[in-house]
Amino acid sequence: MKKLLFTLLIGCLLAACGKEAAPGPQVVAHRGYWKAKGSAQNSISSLQNAGRIGAYGSEFDVNLTADGQLVVNHDFTYHDRVIYESTLEALRDTSLRLKNGEIIPTIDEYLAASLEYPAMKLVYELKSKGDPEYEAKALPASVEAIRRHGVEDRVEFISFSLSACKEFAKLMPNCLVEYLGGELAPAEVKALGINGIDYHFSVFDKHPEWVAEAHELGMVVNVWTVDQEADIVRMLGLGCDHITTNEPELAARLIAEFVSNPNPAGKEVPPTK
Ligand code: MG
Repeated sequence: MKKLLFTLLIGCLLAACGKEAAPGPQVVAHRGYWKAKGSAQNSISSLQNAGRIGAYGSEFDVNLTADGQLVVNHDFTYHDRVIYESTLEALRDTSLRLKNGEIIPTIDEYLAASLEYPAMKLVYELKSKGDPEYEAKALPASVEAIRRHGVEDRVEFISFSLSACKEFAKLMPNCLVEYLGGELAPAEVKALGINGIDYHFSVFDKHPEWVAEAHELGMVVNVWTVDQEADIVRMLGLGCDHITTNEPELAARLIAEFVSNPNPAGKEVPPTK
């Protein structure tokens, strides 16, 4: 009882001092930190590199094979094979390699490797052309894999498929889900039961007011794929929560500078309204 009262007292004191942990902007390594030496996009090594540098999250792309297995790969094709028309065995042919020599990772291999970095979020992009039959297999398989590895509290789901985002939000209501499309205002996305947006930075240049609108609705704002210093600084100025980037170490440095001095002299930050 004394311990509980003490904890409550400390909590109240910190809140009174305004020292509650503010989340602040965060770095998401796009397709992992694949630019590190010896790595490749969407490889296990890229996930490990993102974990090693302490990235908030590692983003990766997931495709479904013809025999209902999930693999980590950006395109619908892998070498000369169409993933949704190929079996897992055909894709795991040892003559087919990622640029760093790895075999295409299964979702189980990727999520198992992520357990080494328990603080890192797993920004799970389901690749989909919006085909209901495909999504009816890929979504439950995704949820099963996430549960099998016990990473429900670490997954943030993203997709260009609005139907996939809506369905995932229903299947895993405690997960952050971010729609990638960019054509909908935050209120329209929220009305579909989706609690985040992840748009290209050109969308926020056109609609800077969407960042504040999303925040007012309690939504998280992610932005892709921001690699240039000026673009990263501008998106931080707009108030984006997550910066998805191929340059995670640069973004981490710029975020640290931004947090210590949000509006430095000589750097113009466009107004949000
Ligand atoms: Mg992606």
